Amino acid sequence: MKPTIFISDLHLEDAVPSRSEWFNTFLAGPATRAGELYILGDLFEFWIGDDALTPIAQHVATALSALNAAGVKCRFMHGNRDFLVGKQYADLAGLELLPEELVIDLQGTPTLLLHGDSLCTDDAAYQALRRQVRDPAWQMEVLALSIEERLQMAKAAREASMQHTQSSSMEIMDVNPDAVGEAFDRHGVSRMIHGHTHRPAKHEVQLGTRTAERIVLADWYDHGSYLVATPDGVESVSIEV
Ligand code: MN
Repeated sequence: MKPTIFISDLHLEDAVPSRSEWFNTFLAGPATRAGELYILGDLFEFWIGDDALTPIAQHVATALSALNAAGVKCRFMHGNRDFLVGKQYADLAGLELLPEELVIDLQGTPTLLLHGDSLCTDDAAYQALRRQVRDPAWQMEVLALSIEERLQMAKAAREASMQHTQSSSMEIMDVNPDAVGEAFDRHGVSRMIHGHTHRPAKHEVQLGTRTAERIVLADWYDHGSYLVATPDGVESVSIEV
């Protein structure tokens, strides 16, 4: 059985070429040996619509569609930066768009996949923003704006997000234990994989009498990183150029 690979929080943007280099290294090597590639959100630093592709977005579409053509199934879940990625781009990149939460059979173990921001319920301001930007009616209104207007919005949103992150405590921006327990119970699984918090780890979670596992993917700020699942287990691997 071929390995299944997970990545998230690459935050690719034209202004930071190092991340694109790590991604190219990843696509040329480890990704080619996978059966399936799951991208669990925040592949891009920002996304204003499929009709406004940046050079890096075009490059990624070409590279991922080649990987898909080579037989690696590529799937994408939205993050809080790239929630506007739509079907048009998914088709161009050979990506299957996933729902916000998905349970897969990962080498025999039912595993819940999610971006992870929905678990950060202590951050009330963020959750209010999340409800707004995930609303299809709001998204349609935004996509109807000019590209220039959307670029301004994205810039303002990134600045507001940076200020919010700086002024919030570390605890508030991590997952809430009750939200984690509820997600495990809702799906009846004992393993989840998510990104978003930029705190890579494998946590054991006690749920009544059973133990569950919460695996957090690493971001790509200092180096590339992916999680590989084989019948032997799940392992995190760094990518450096
Ligand atoms: Mn995120």
